[in-house]
Amino acid sequence: MSVPSNLPINPERLWASLAAMAEIGATAKGGSCRLALSDEDKAGRDLFVSWCVEAGCEVAIDRVGNIFARRPGSDPTLPPVVMGSHLDTQPTGGRFDGVYGVLAGLEVLRSLNDRSVATRHPVEVAVWTNEEGSRFSPPMMGSGVVTGVFALDEILDKIAQDGARLGDELIRTGYAGDAPTDHPMHAYLEAHIEQGPVLEVEEKEIGVVVGAQGQRWYEVTVTGVEAHAGPTPMRLRRDALVAAARMVTAVQELGLDTPGDACATVGILDVHPHSRNVIPGRVFFTVDLRHPDSATLAAMDRRFRDAVAAIADAAGVRAEIADFWRFPPTPFNPTLVDRVRDAARGFGFSHRDIVSGAGHDAVYVAGKVPTAMIFIPCEDGISHNEVENIAPADGARGAAVLFEVLVATAGFAPRP
Ligand SMILES: [Zn+2]
Repeated sequence: MSVPSNLPINPERLWASLAAMAEIGATAKGGSCRLALSDEDKAGRDLFVSWCVEAGCEVAIDRVGNIFARRPGSDPTLPPVVMGSHLDTQPTGGRFDGVYGVLAGLEVLRSLNDRSVATRHPVEVAVWTNEEGSRFSPPMMGSGVVTGVFALDEILDKIAQDGARLGDELIRTGYAGDAPTDHPMHAYLEAHIEQGPVLEVEEKEIGVVVGAQGQRWYEVTVTGVEAHAGPTPMRLRRDALVAAARMVTAVQELGLDTPGDACATVGILDVHPHSRNVIPGRVFFTVDLRHPDSATLAAMDRRFRDAVAAIADAAGVRAEIADFWRFPPTPFNPTLVDRVRDAARGFGFSHRDIVSGAGHDAVYVAGKVPTAMIFIPCEDGISHNEVENIAPADGARGAAVLFEVLVATAGFAPRP
């Protein structure tokens, strides 16, 4: 697949920038390790900032370490149109998750310079602090603080797995900025690898992301009666694992039966006492339900609870469901989503509407500012993995779409 010509961006420069960033924290198997606010993350941030300064940007750092590189617009009173994503990675992360959105944004900004395009709104590229949530938990911290999901002071006091305090790591790495965290934005655009297989399987070049799935996470504890595996007849058992197994199957059926991008997953299962000749007396498992529509997600919630209760009843065990975490479905801004679709169509790129199944900075930002995302395919749908890969042509297409949507949203400056 060759890179299409006549794009408004420079595909070779974008690819070279991705390759240069990947050298920082490079892993043996070809991935990247830049844990949030580690020495490697600092080096990645420093490289990005040096590129932005070279491109003539003014760079601001806010109090949670988010970076905003600004190209002025013709009207300095207007809030910026912001493009961005994250530069931090998982411990065995890939070269594109997050990095692609940041460097596609930088490529758009550089291309505006090349073409001497003047926009009405200022244009910014943002790097959000700790999107991955690997070294410091929770994920999506920087975008969460800016949009009021998290309190700044709470986040600054978070302690890493290695014992470091986030606020201290910001100071150590030189990214404890003084810009306020209520950063004004006119709109937010995030390009990202899909992190799933749909675009590749359907041979689509661009994913027009219409929104993000709502999520509900639960913890279920099933309590039966522990007993000896020999002397206890089958019909007298209250086997917590057998009941839990039926519940796991019910969760899977819920995902299969619910129309429209439903997902239902059991990811953790702990069996107690975990002994080969004891009938399990207690089982703990987690459930993750996702759907882009609120009403459907609520219906999934009800059906899940009913199924667990009915199975527990029939098996003579007790089941308790605890709500662990939830996130409402987040539709993106329809005008911006239309612009993404129009841009893909204008270039002649194959495309489809898609819902984001993963969390992204854009999902928090969408709560406050008109937001859209652009997905590009990734090889075998694999991410959070050192082998994560994209085709250079897909990278170029995504950046071209980002360029068009950015210009349409930031507006051309009136001619002097
Ligand atoms: Zn990401």
